[in-house]
Amino acid sequence: MQSFFTRDGIKPAELLRIGLEQLRPYTTVEVRPARVTQLATAPDHFELQAEGESGRTFTVTARKVLLATGVEDELPPVPGMRDLWGHGVLHCPYCHGWEVRGQALAVYGRGKMVTGMALLISRWATDVIVCTDGPGHLSENARRRLRQQKIRINEEPISHLEGKPNGELRYIVFENGEKLARHAIFVHPHQHQRASFAEQLGCRLTSKGAIWIDKHVQTSVRGCMPPATSPPAPESHTGCCRRNPGSYCHARSPDPGGVP
Ligand SMILES: Cc1cc2nc3c(=O)[nH]c(=O)nc-3n(C[C@H](O)[C@H](O)[C@H](O)COP(=O)(O)OP(=O)(O)OC[C@H]3O[C@@H](n4cnc5c(N)ncnc54)[C@H](O)[C@@H]3O)c2cc1C
Repeated sequence: MQSFFTRDGIKPAELLRIGLEQLRPYTTVEVRPARVTQLATAPDHFELQAEGESGRTFTVTARKVLLATGVEDELPPVPGMRDLWGHGVLHCPYCHGWEVRGQALAVYGRGKMVTGMALLISRWATDVIVCTDGPGHLSENARRRLRQQKIRINEEPISHLEGKPNGELRYIVFENGEKLARHAIFVHPHQHQRASFAEQLGCRLTSKGAIWIDKHVQTSVRGCMPPATSPPAPESHTGCCRRNPGSYCHARSPDPGGVP
C-alpha cells in the first residue's frame, strides 16, 4: 500500500496485523474472527449472526454497528485485466501515480470519466494514451483538452492484456492484432458493496450504490455507522484516498500545482 501515513509501501496483511496488535492493550475490545452471515434490527438494538473459524455459529447483540465490509471492484471484461490487477492494472493515480511516473501509460474507459482520469495522470507522465476499447463517446471539447496535453486516443477494440510474470503490463493487444507497449493501464471500475448488510438494514444508498451518509457522517439507520474514515459529505465515496485520511496523495504528485 502506498500513501498511507507512516506506512508507505506496507503489505496490506501487515497493516492489518499491526492494527490487531495495537488493539490488544484495549482490554474492553474483543476480537472474534468470524464471518457475519446476517444482520438485523430489533427495536433498540442490532442482532448479528456469525460463523466462527471452527464453523460454530453465534449471535451478538449491539447498540451500534459499524459497517466496514468494503467494496468490490467490477473490472472491465478484458482478458488479462484481473490477472494484472494491482500491478499492471491500476485504479488510483494518487496511490500508484508516483510509482509509475514518467512511464508509458494508458487509461482505459470512455466519455467524461476517461478524459478526467487521463488529464490527471498526465501530471505524472508525458506519454499517456487513452484506450476506449471501441467508440470512445468523447465530446469535441474532451478531444481538444486531451490533444492540448498531448494525450493520444486509440478507439480500437482491445483483445487482451499481456503481462509479465511479475504482474506488470507488457502490451495492450488490440483486436486488429496491433500491440501497444505500456508500463501500466489505469481503469476506473464500478464498485459495489461487498456485503448486502446496508440493504438488509434498510440504509439509504447513493445512486452509485455507496452507503449514503449525512453531514454528521450518519447513515439513514440510527446506530448504524459507515467506516470511521468516511468523509463528512452527503455522498459516501468508494475510492481509497478520501477514505484514508492519512493519505498524503497530493504531496506525492510531481506537479503539486494541482489537478486539472
Ligand atoms: C488494487 C488496489 C490497490 C490499492 N492501493 C492502495 C494504496 O496504495 N493506498 C491506499 O491508501 N489505498 C489503496 N487501496 C484502497 C484500499 O485498499 C481501501 O481503501 C481499503 O482497503 C478500504 O478499507 P476497508 O476497511 O473499508 O475495506 P476492506 O479493506 O475491503 O476490508 C473489508 C473487510 O471486511 C471483511 N468482510 C467482508 N464481508 C464480511 C462478512 N460478511 N463478515 C465478516 N467480515 C467481512 C473482508 O474480509 C475485509 O477484511 C487499493 C485498493 C485496491 C483494490
